[in-house]
Amino acid sequence: MTASLKLGLVGFGKIARDQHLPAIASTEGAELAAVASPHNTAEGVGNYRTLEAMLEAEPGLDAIVMCQPPQVRYAAARTALAAGKHVFLEKPPGVTVSEVEALTALARSQDVSLFASWHSRYAAAVPQAREWLASRKLRRASIAWKEDVRHWHPGQTWIFEAGGFGVFDPGVNALSILTEVVRDPICVTAAELEIPANRQAPIAARLTLETVQGAPIEVEFDFRQTGPQTWDIVLEAEDGRLVLSEGGGKLAIDAAPQATPLAGEYPAMYRHFVDLVRNRRSDADLAPLRLVADAFLCARFLQTEAFED
Ligand code: NAP
Repeated sequence: MTASLKLGLVGFGKIARDQHLPAIASTEGAELAAVASPHNTAEGVGNYRTLEAMLEAEPGLDAIVMCQPPQVRYAAARTALAAGKHVFLEKPPGVTVSEVEALTALARSQDVSLFASWHSRYAAAVPQAREWLASRKLRRASIAWKEDVRHWHPGQTWIFEAGGFGVFDPGVNALSILTEVVRDPICVTAAELEIPANRQAPIAARLTLETVQGAPIEVEFDFRQTGPQTWDIVLEAEDGRLVLSEGGGKLAIDAAPQATPLAGEYPAMYRHFVDLVRNRRSDADLAPLRLVADAFLCARFLQTEAFED
């Protein structure tokens, strides 16, 4: 029998509590041994204020899971990889593309695994959408990812700071599904980002993307949506129309709802991580992050009304 992976988790905030804790508990071959977080603590495991203190006190840790805000993730991941630990990165895997490339190279040189996770790719209906498009030519697509930042990200000031991604924090989830389902290379051809007068990161974004085959993809991200929330992707081919809704959890083809398997995004990611470590492989696809970076590179920036939490 292979020994269970001993995990140390950094950044015990919302996603660590809501998703990582129960997913680790349900994963065969992994167990949570310690947590490092500046203020929060977890029950039943060793608690430390910093990654460095955790690494020193818990030399038996096999892997470190990074759930802190993206702005501080690179330095921590570099420390963990340099200490010979496998690393699981929450999305987005870094603030810049070059950070993640550097981590990938470091993981390779240390002969450990790096997993840059994209949880939305594990949503229930994503594999069916990918299969549907595999035998078709995409004519056009659209994405509407609109949610209420006050509801979903209360008190997360880092999200509107430089490197916090703003509305691209959820938006990159849509781009992770898009780049999983559409196999052709995709470019950003235009972007408009709305930045609140008192913040550093966009509260709304409109992008035009295009596949290398010339299929246009219109994208709308908005953090100011109250009432019903929207996480939809529409794909149109010659002979049909597919709608992925609820963040990839539901699927309709030509307006007919399709049955989808029961799937837990985070348990599936942990199974994948255990498998990566056992096989000494890494999985760090940069395609979604590259589209975000390209949007910032070619964007028109519009100042908009100040945002108060
Ligand atoms: P969050 O609730 O703000 O939690 C982040 C935690 O990181 C904080 O509780 C804080 O811990 C800790 N932290 C801050 N600075 C740190 C540092 N220098 N070293 C170690 N820990 C530090 O944010 P979140 O929603 O969990 O998001 C974290 C990441 O997960 C983001 O990249 C986000 O995109 C991703 N994610 C979030 C969701 C979601 O629905 N919330 C879903 C999927 C992915 P203390 O409180 O102890 O100071």
